[in-house]
Amino acid sequence: MSDNRRVSVLVPVYNNAPTLEPLCARLAAALEGRDYEVVLVNDGSRDDSWARLSQLAAANPRFKAIGLSRNFGQHPAIAAALDHATGDVMVLMDADLEDEPEHIPALLSALDANGVDIVYTEKDEARAPRFTSRFYHYVFSRIVGVSVPRRLGTYRAFTRKVQQALRAFPERHVLYGPLMFFVGFRYTTVPVTGGARPDRSSYSFGKRLRLALNSLVTYTDLPPKLFAGIGLGMVALAFLYSAIVLLQYLIVGQSLPQGLTMIVLLVSGMTGMLMLAIGTLGVYIFRIFQEVLARPRYLVDDAINVRALSETDGRSRR
Ligand code: UDP
Ligand code: MG
Repeated sequence: MSDNRRVSVLVPVYNNAPTLEPLCARLAAALEGRDYEVVLVNDGSRDDSWARLSQLAAANPRFKAIGLSRNFGQHPAIAAALDHATGDVMVLMDADLEDEPEHIPALLSALDANGVDIVYTEKDEARAPRFTSRFYHYVFSRIVGVSVPRRLGTYRAFTRKVQQALRAFPERHVLYGPLMFFVGFRYTTVPVTGGARPDRSSYSFGKRLRLALNSLVTYTDLPPKLFAGIGLGMVALAFLYSAIVLLQYLIVGQSLPQGLTMIVLLVSGMTGMLMLAIGTLGVYIFRIFQEVLARPRYLVDDAINVRALSETDGRSRR
């Protein structure tokens, strides 16, 4: 059954030089006896990841190394891996050994046993994800309208069908977390224990915050809605206030209220709101501009053991 299907393991690599050798050794052991390939995409690492990858790929043709021309980010690197994977089933994992290769057979059998197209992994209680990871998951799980398991990891297995579906989305700002839920298909979740967590994430706080904001802008219209709501509330309050002032004038003949402070507060409050609202629109307009440019998601500098570079090569399919 599953054993004659070709497995493609997809690994984005960014400054992971210390873990690459053990990762490849453990992958080879875990996939022993199967037809497999490992697509490692070097996302412009600043350490000697590429040198290690070249050695590993030279030693074993099953290890395919693709070097991007600079750091494009985890998701464009995953796009590159998806574009070059040739297997029937895919396994996506991080390169830092937080995802243990020994779980792959279990993931693949969950894919078969449950008749699903996607198997997600959930990290165990004791290893709660970092705060920024949790914030990121919170943002997108609130939005895609599906109940996204709380401790979902990057580590997952899916069929070729899902791979092709993911590749059909041409957006420049691709984010595979929300997108995998957006494409649908039946999925199941299996719990896994995590490997040792490295001291440092290759994500800085700022980088992950940008990812969360990116999801917010790409998958929701929450920011403009929020400002529309605030604007509406302010118009209603202003209307109410003028009605009160008018009534006061008509009934007791009082003149309009004095007070420079209130005017200053109103003017600065309103101006602030307007600027925020315009800024929010600006974010969307910039996003539209970027999508219209339809730049390649990634550029390949070098590739080893890759027979033919995908004809799309990250370029637009529009
Ligand atoms: N990664 C990448 N490009 C980047 C940042 C990260 O390809 O600009 C890869 C990294 O090599 C790893 C995965 O994304 O395989 C997840 O990164 P990391 O383990 O640092 O994130 P965390 O586990 O802290 O969420
Ligand atoms: Mg990690």
